[in-house]
Amino acid sequence: MSPSPNRSFDIESLVRPNIRRLQPYRSARDDFETGLLLDANENSLGAPFRDAEGLNRYPSPQQYELRKRIADFRDVDVDNVFVGVGSDEAIDLLLRIFCEPARDRIIITPPTYGMYKVAAQINDITVDEVLLSEDFQLRPDRILAAVRPETRLLFLCSPNNPTGNHLKLFEIEKLLDRFPGLVVVDEAYIDFSSRKSLAARVREYPNLVVLQTMSKAFGLAGIRLGMAIASPDIIGYMMKVKAPYNLNTLTSKYAREAFDHLGQIRWNIDEIIQERNRLAHELNAFPGIDQVAPSDANFLLFKVDGAYDIYRRLAEEGVIIRYRGHEPHCENGLRVTIGTPEENNRFLEKLTELLA
Ligand SMILES: *Cc1c(COP(=O)(O)O)cnc(C)c1O
Repeated sequence: MSPSPNRSFDIESLVRPNIRRLQPYRSARDDFETGLLLDANENSLGAPFRDAEGLNRYPSPQQYELRKRIADFRDVDVDNVFVGVGSDEAIDLLLRIFCEPARDRIIITPPTYGMYKVAAQINDITVDEVLLSEDFQLRPDRILAAVRPETRLLFLCSPNNPTGNHLKLFEIEKLLDRFPGLVVVDEAYIDFSSRKSLAARVREYPNLVVLQTMSKAFGLAGIRLGMAIASPDIIGYMMKVKAPYNLNTLTSKYAREAFDHLGQIRWNIDEIIQERNRLAHELNAFPGIDQVAPSDANFLLFKVDGAYDIYRRLAEEGVIIRYRGHEPHCENGLRVTIGTPEENNRFLEKLTELLA
């Protein structure tokens, strides 16, 4: 293989000049976190109800303990880890750090997760779209051909939402080697996948950002905990731009606690994968369903004639799934999340009635 020009990638040149110059806000808790705390204008008398959580105090701005647990779990260092309010915060921060509004551009690869485009539009960043192939894989040469001088970020999603498949590793690597900006790989579903996370490869690729979340495999969507894993330089900029107390005390506590329950998390993942395989098998046997996309995630995308109508009628029966038929290559596509065995049976029963 030819040596990669990107292994000596200069991150500074990609950062917006105003962010490079920024002197971050220093909160009281950046200096000391314990002692007689009369530094932050908190209420020393406590919260107004029984207060076991220290909720009268501001949370840690650095979140060192939580980041350490994530780092150990993903085999990286603490300074490779950013934690924020869902993946949404990480996506927004990357746009704000690296893209000049009303000038810069990003590339996305539809059909894919909708937040990249929305977050870019909110920040007035132009979005260029390079469709996946019919079998939902990358077309690296087309992506590279779509790069312009203003292109800063490439968002990839593997396993991909809403299609469920993982993207081929050697094609992601090709883009990491050749793409002139940051390659963001969203791994929201990685723990359901047969493929390894790219997280530890941030040591090798200074232009790689891996996004992960506690919303899916960890079963904690309600706490809003998202992570970015990248070089210390990139993480440093994210820490500098984020709101000082972005992560609240309760989120941090439950997120740390999750790592004491990895056995249960793994058990749940195994159960969901088993159910996913069963459901895929059963859906494939339906006469009207011609295509169930291979899934590495906790959902299935399948195509069926009259998909929108089926979606509406399932909803009337109290079974809510997602219509994805307006996405490219997804005509008549429905996406169903894998539920409990009972929920999946109920979905299959209702679908059988509708397709009878
Ligand atoms: C669900 C999902 C997320 C998770 O977002 P959070 O803000 O962390 O809940 C991120 N990316 C993709 C592709 C998803 O499907």
